[in-house]
Amino acid sequence: MYTASAGSALPTTIIGSLPRPGWYTENLGRRDFREAMVERSYREQYLDAVSTFLRDQEVAGLDIVTDGDCRFDADVAGHNWFSYAPLRMAGFSGARAYSAQGGKAGIPHKPGHILHDVLETRIMPDLVGPVGRGNLQYSAIWKAAQRLTTRPVKFGTITPELIAMAVRDFHYRDLRKAIMAISDALNEELNELADAGCKVIQMEEPQIHLLAAKGLVDEVLNPGFMVEVFNNTVRGLRGKTEIWCHTCWGNPAAQRLFAAQPSYEPALEALDRVDADVITFETCSSGGMDLEAIGKRIRDKKICIGVVDHHTLQVETPEQVAGLIRKALQFIAPERLILGSDCGMGREGMSRRHAFYKMVAIVQGTNLVRRELKLPEARCLAADERFSMV
Ligand SMILES: [Zn+2]
Repeated sequence: MYTASAGSALPTTIIGSLPRPGWYTENLGRRDFREAMVERSYREQYLDAVSTFLRDQEVAGLDIVTDGDCRFDADVAGHNWFSYAPLRMAGFSGARAYSAQGGKAGIPHKPGHILHDVLETRIMPDLVGPVGRGNLQYSAIWKAAQRLTTRPVKFGTITPELIAMAVRDFHYRDLRKAIMAISDALNEELNELADAGCKVIQMEEPQIHLLAAKGLVDEVLNPGFMVEVFNNTVRGLRGKTEIWCHTCWGNPAAQRLFAAQPSYEPALEALDRVDADVITFETCSSGGMDLEAIGKRIRDKKICIGVVDHHTLQVETPEQVAGLIRKALQFIAPERLILGSDCGMGREGMSRRHAFYKMVAIVQGTNLVRRELKLPEARCLAADERFSMV
């Protein structure tokens, strides 16, 4: 149900992560969140960092905000986005380097390439017993942010298949069973999060479009099974909260994984079947290539398009953003359209200032179109000329 996006016309947001402030030097490591929050220095830095992330989004004028993925550590290439969950869920133990199985992630292995660092630093625990929620503590993390703002805080989580595909399975010894066990555990965690009052939950990177684009079809790694996994992970949630399905074409170390941007077309039929209220698409980096197909084939859901690119430091102009929105409006009705970034801004690759002005561009560009459509505009304090110092 539309608990977060219903309140504004052409609502704006970002996908999730923001660059960490230089002074945010504390890390969770292997601790759980509430244990770390007992420690004075961690608590102070964490809450200051979340406040900064929220404040930047409010000053830009975004309608739906995130906690910037503040729980993730200062590691190489956003590794913690993969490892946070298995390091805290029941059933996982130990740690090993990512290796031969890594081909499934589609990352080149060769030394001398920046993505080789991504593989070298992807140290994941093994799956050694029955999976459970363990100490994910998503509700506590969401509450820590939501009590600092009146705007809805979108909470994002990794999807089960990505966890299962990145670990050695010594327990189920069956990828399908491992994925479903992780899916059940995440479902329990997310129901608690929705019951706590979280108004919007985002599932990050179901492997539907990537498998459809690569044609990697076997009995487990295929778009149909990935839809089944998605719908199992979110079961019971849409009656309580707004569910988003995030898709993009990868973002390790702020690198593109494809020489040419793949098309979403082969995946749209499957994506239309996910049990979600909103689907996000990476459309800025492709110049809006798939907008017509997306508008036609995704029928009953809202569509969040990326209007700024997380791979580049060039800040999009409001006119560029507005141009892409106008193109989308040819195929998607305004009441179905949400504006965001292609993916997270990352914690490592971009400066805070670049990320901030990209968020400002999202709002300024959207305001240009809102004005044309006679819709209420968002307040963008960052662009208020009365407060210019020059
Ligand atoms: Zn993404």
